[in-house]
Amino acid sequence: MQREQLEFDVVFVGGGPANLAGAIHLKRLAAQAGREVEICLIEKAESIGAHSLSGAVLDLKALTELLPDYATRGCPIEETDLRDGIFYLTPRGQIRLPLTPAFMHNAGCAVISLSKFCAWLGTVAEELGVNIFPGFAGVEALYDESGRRVVGVRTGDKGIGKNGTPKSNMEPGVDLRAAVTVLGEGPKGSLMREVGKRLGLCDGKMPQTFETAVKEVIELPAANAFQDSPFTVIHTFGFPLGLDTKGGGFLYRMRENRVALGLVVGLDYENPMLEPYQEFLRFKRHPLIVGLIRGGKVLQQGAKTLAAGGWYTMPQLAMDGALVVGDSACMLNTRRLKGIHTAMKSGMLAAETALDALERADASAAVLRGYADRMAASWIRSELFAARNFGQALSRKGLGKFIAVGAQLLTGGRGLVDPMQTVDDAATLKAGQLSAPAPVADLDGKLYIDKLTGVYLSGATHEEDQPCHLLIPDPELCVTRCWQTFRSPCTRFCPGQVYEMETEGGRPRLKLNPSNCLHCKTCEIKDPYKNILWSCPEGGGGPKFTIT
Ligand code: SF4
Repeated sequence: MQREQLEFDVVFVGGGPANLAGAIHLKRLAAQAGREVEICLIEKAESIGAHSLSGAVLDLKALTELLPDYATRGCPIEETDLRDGIFYLTPRGQIRLPLTPAFMHNAGCAVISLSKFCAWLGTVAEELGVNIFPGFAGVEALYDESGRRVVGVRTGDKGIGKNGTPKSNMEPGVDLRAAVTVLGEGPKGSLMREVGKRLGLCDGKMPQTFETAVKEVIELPAANAFQDSPFTVIHTFGFPLGLDTKGGGFLYRMRENRVALGLVVGLDYENPMLEPYQEFLRFKRHPLIVGLIRGGKVLQQGAKTLAAGGWYTMPQLAMDGALVVGDSACMLNTRRLKGIHTAMKSGMLAAETALDALERADASAAVLRGYADRMAASWIRSELFAARNFGQALSRKGLGKFIAVGAQLLTGGRGLVDPMQTVDDAATLKAGQLSAPAPVADLDGKLYIDKLTGVYLSGATHEEDQPCHLLIPDPELCVTRCWQTFRSPCTRFCPGQVYEMETEGGRPRLKLNPSNCLHCKTCEIKDPYKNILWSCPEGGGGPKFTIT
């Protein structure tokens, strides 16, 4: 197959905050140095921001460094009057924590919509001359003849039918070649899976761990209780997850009587019958939340995983020809419940390193390791190192959680054991209890919606006639061991109702609805047999977030 080859100095794979900040920073640095740098940024979503979803409270530190004039440039900010309230929820009530730990103070930060924010960063990048190609998924890393040096990325073919044969509109993917490739695919990227395995980027590191968030943007009536609340940023723990499952809820005030509401569930949970979406509905039914969102209407819904493992799970950040940034590099600060600012800063440090490599005409790992050195000398390191055991402490069960967290607060992050081990999320399910609690009833289709309505409100669509992007290497395993031991947890942990178990001739049969996929990656992370591989569908498919 003849493929078009395009040459750039730097290719950024992924249009999230890390790569967008990196591309902007690189263009500006290069201009200051009087150097012309050709940059390309590809994004699998139909448009920049359409696959971006986060809480999201933004620490403005990185944005201020990147674009000090962000306010006059029209940066979309939802709320700057941030007043924190942290609550422990019991099934029917709540206890407000009298003190907010210093690292959770949000005064001086801003509530944003990450999808709007990324779309805006995309326009800034484009104005500076970055070549942005939305609708193009990076599906394969390109290597030199040694097979160990990354020299670019291949985008996915378009117009391949379900059965794998080309259709009349077939367009081969393009080979984008570059001196430096920056991988910023977000959590559990499919390129990182392949590159990481080939080059051993995670060798000697602790297993990466993740959380899944289900989030909605809700429009409230003009007269609503949240506007009179003393808090504009609410975080909760306890109900509905209890103290044995990591996670918690959030409710943030946005513009135009809108709120962002979500529940984050640690994917190291043990109960195979747990369903994050149902837990989200239970959270929404809690009296504290009901009182604040009454009369509202869900405008948009989505789901996303967070790479929550932190410092000890960070992969090798540089290799010959490539760098890793943002969630792909586990830059989230679990302790502060924030990762956009660290992602952006990582992209900026990658940009500085890439420029250095271009100036020296040497993009070997030896030069690109300057990125890790820059990171170690930056505030990213101070933040993430102080939080290095925090996610692991939250994974402790019951009151042990408070002891482990308390010990860290008293010891500057070291805690009782340093380092605290992480556990692969795929290995934590326990067989045993196989009856699920009754699902939340009385969904009104407006404020309380089912999964399929949520998929509809995410805007998720895919070309139907294409190969399934969810690869199940051993389908028989799904209907034998996985069904018998765990009752097919994919049918519950997937927030998009992509996996359904049917009965055919008296036997269970797994049915896939790949068009519903929200691109959250929960399935690849949590499947207990690692029997689901998520690959990029045809570019442009997936959710179409605009306000999440
Ligand atoms: Fe998320 Fe996987 Fe379900 Fe898609 S199929 S929505 S990636 S869990």
